[in-house]
Amino acid sequence: MNKCTLPIDCVLAVTYRCNSRCNMCDIWKLKDFPEMSFGEFAKLPASLRDINLSGGEPFLRMDLSDIAREVKKACPRARIVISSNGFATELIVAQMKKILPIMPGIGVAISIDGVGEMHDELRGIKGGFEMAMNTVWELKKMGLKNLRLAFTLMAKNVSHLSKVYDLSRELGVEFTHSFAQSSEFYFGGKQNVDNNPRRDLLDKEYAYLIKSELRSWNLKRWARAYFAHGMFEFVTGNKQVLSNAPGRDFFFLDPSGNIYPSVVHNAVMGNLKSVVINNHHARKSAKRSLGLARDDSEVDTSLPKNDKCFKVFWCSDEMVKKRKQVDAMKIPVWMICTARTAIKKHPWRVAWWVLRNKFF
Ligand code: SF4
Repeated sequence: MNKCTLPIDCVLAVTYRCNSRCNMCDIWKLKDFPEMSFGEFAKLPASLRDINLSGGEPFLRMDLSDIAREVKKACPRARIVISSNGFATELIVAQMKKILPIMPGIGVAISIDGVGEMHDELRGIKGGFEMAMNTVWELKKMGLKNLRLAFTLMAKNVSHLSKVYDLSRELGVEFTHSFAQSSEFYFGGKQNVDNNPRRDLLDKEYAYLIKSELRSWNLKRWARAYFAHGMFEFVTGNKQVLSNAPGRDFFFLDPSGNIYPSVVHNAVMGNLKSVVINNHHARKSAKRSLGLARDDSEVDTSLPKNDKCFKVFWCSDEMVKKRKQVDAMKIPVWMICTARTAIKKHPWRVAWWVLRNKFF
């Protein structure tokens, strides 16, 4: 077997069903896209440190609390965040009431692409801004600590970047952002997103965002300033400021279990369902999710733990070949999961950039 390390970051799209009608995405048009049962998530490796439960709209999966529980058991050291469009307030609150007792530290990111009508227009939902903000308030009332506004940058909403950032500061919640990047298999394959924002607006908005984050005395916010700097370089020049390792340090999982190196690398590396389950817990979970009676008699507890099972899959010769193909694609990518792993690998470069930009 080839020597390789296990991934530390991933995005898990648990469903492609969606109740939004976003301009930049066609996922909501997909019908009957296959979904893994919740027990299959027990096959994830414990090496994962950051997991984003995404979609589609993840809260439309009525077994989301079962998925969250399986993910937490399989990856006990992972920080988990659920990304939502925030439109189904009642459903989200009801699901969070089940999830929070299992995972009090879980985060929720609500998409806000602009203030007021800008958000409604981009998300294709009249009154969408109010609906999403209502969810933010309800989650705050529930006492959710790890709450954030997630902004998707497009040509139309550049001037709202600072507005949504300021809104997050007023609300006392975190701010994250991404660039509308689509691919043949992500965002429903939508290829005609207008992602060519005006340069003068980008200069102004990013200068504001980066300065505001650097003004603080908070390491996390400095890292966010660096992330924003990377995003600016990516959007304006298609440049990736730090190298990363798609399909090594991170991956994207679609609802059917297919694993991709990232959301923009169209190369299926394998399917999580094909990971052979040998350990006690994963076998029980798979059976439970399939509605089979628990029968532990045949379980051999001396067999390898989850990580070892995943490693057989992740480090196979086939995977090594796939990674070479991915490297040859040379596609730049800069989003939270890819940037986070890159920042962790290059702390001195990030620290040097922060020092120069904060003090000089
Ligand atoms: S961007 Fe997200 S919320 Fe909008 S349609 Fe696509 S999956 Fe749904």
